[in-house]
Parts: sequence; structure tokens; C-alpha cells
Amino acid sequence: MGNDLYFGKEHEQVRKAVRDFVTKEINPHVDDWEEKGIAPLHDLFKKMGDLGFLGIRYDEKWGGEGLDYWYETVVLEECARIHCGGIPMAIAVQMNMATPAIYDFGSDYLKETYLKPALRGDLVAAIAVTEPDAGSDVAALKTFAKKDGDHYILNGSKTFITNGTQADFLTLLARTAMIRGITVFPCLWCPRTSPDSRSAKSWTNWA
Ligand SMILES: Cc1cc2nc3c(=O)[nH]c(=O)nc-3n(C[C@H](O)[C@H](O)[C@H](O)COP(=O)(O)OP(=O)(O)OC[C@H]3O[C@@H](n4cnc5c(N)ncnc54)[C@H](O)[C@@H]3O)c2cc1C
Repeated sequence: MGNDLYFGKEHEQVRKAVRDFVTKEINPHVDDWEEKGIAPLHDLFKKMGDLGFLGIRYDEKWGGEGLDYWYETVVLEECARIHCGGIPMAIAVQMNMATPAIYDFGSDYLKETYLKPALRGDLVAAIAVTEPDAGSDVAALKTFAKKDGDHYILNGSKTFITNGTQADFLTLLARTAMIRGITVFPCLWCPRTSPDSRSAKSWTNWA
């Protein structure tokens, strides 16, 4: 029985395609990327998006492949064959950490603007939760989002943000209000290009 319980013939075909991709397009470059201290995530994600790997479990309406959970498992299992830890983490954040909240809770505008391009590999995504004084204890986070007309002004610091130096947008957790003793932490989506240059500067410090 073993894997047959979860993976059919089509899953195994996808597994082979991902394995080939890892062998030919990623592993030969890992030493070079390690040496440079950076991997070309936009190029890499574009290639993966074109092959349909990034959005494999997401609805076709939003640029995904509309396949089941086990296809995503196959992609992530094969990424474990990459000869370093950072690239599998970068891919997992793009597929499975920065994008699910948009898919589950985002408006159609957010899905068009952020989700679809991220699944196609046109935008690099990051998730910004951790702060210098808030790791495991997420409720301790201090970053505050203050409503100012039709947008929010963010004040705070984030750290350890995978993909942060190259991300085009962040799925970010911030504090907005205290209602009857309960702190409200909505997810915000922030584009990298900001009309406020100070935001852009502090962004790079977050990475
Ligand atoms: C490779 C990597 C990538 C990351 N990428 C991201 C990212 O993309 N986005 C993001 O937001 N964050 C990211 N992080 C941060 C990660 O989420 C935090 O490191 C994690 O939440 C732990 O927080 P901390 O490092 O501050 O450790 P702490 O919370 O200070 O914990 C230190 C130690 O104390 C233990 N501990 C903590 N609280 C308790 C308790 N109440 N009882 C018992 N033991 C406890 C922990 O288990 C741990 O061993 C990344 C981290 C790593 C290592």
C-alpha cells in the first residue's frame, strides 16, 4: 500500500516533473547562490509558475491548477531534494505561507493584484509575522497599523522574513485595535512600492 494510498499515477507524473526541475534548474546553481548570498527568486519563481507548480492546489480562477492537496505535497516533498535549506523555504513561503490567507480571506481585488501574479511567479511574496520581541508569542507583536483615510500607516519592525529582500509584497500581521480586551490582528497586504520613501527604506531593513 504505502504511498499508493495518497498518490496516484498523475501525482507521480507531477513528482517526476518537479524532480527533473530541481535536478536541472535548481541544484546546479545552489553553490553559486550560496556564494553570492542571494538566489534569483523572480527568475526561479517565474519558471516554476510557468510550469504550474506554485499554484498547484489553488483554483484555476486565480491562476492555479485546481488540483488536490496531495499534488502540493508532492511539490513540497520534491523540493526537499534541493541541496540547501533556504530555497525550499522560499518556495514553501510563496506557495503555502504568504498566499493562503489571500486565497481564503482576500477580496477579488487582492486576489487579482497579489495572488494571481504570485502563483504565476510574476511577484515574490513574503509573510511578515515575527518581530525582534515577538517570535513564538505572536500575541506580543507591537507593529501597529493606524487607519488614515483609505489606507493604513504601518509602524514597527519585522525580522527573519524569508524572501523579504526580494519580496514585491508582504502578507503582514499588525495590531490595529483593542476591543473588549481582545487585540485585533488583521492581515494586511503591503506592496513593496510605496509613495512614502521612508516605508521603502525601512522595508529593506526588515529583510
Ligand atoms: C529559517 C527561518 C525562516 C523564518 N521565516 C520567517 C518568515 O518568513 N516570516 C516570519 O514572520 N518569521 C519567520 N521566521 C521566524 C520564526 O517564525 C521564529 O523564529 C519563531 O516564531 C520563533 O521565534 P523566536 O526565534 O523569537 O524564538 P522564541 O520565541 O524566543 O523561542 C526561543 C525558544 O524558547 C522556546 N519557547 C518559546 N516560548 C515558550 C513557551 N511558552 N514555553 C516553552 N518554550 C518556549 C521555543 O520553543 C524556542 O526553543 C523564520 C525563522 C527561521 C529560523
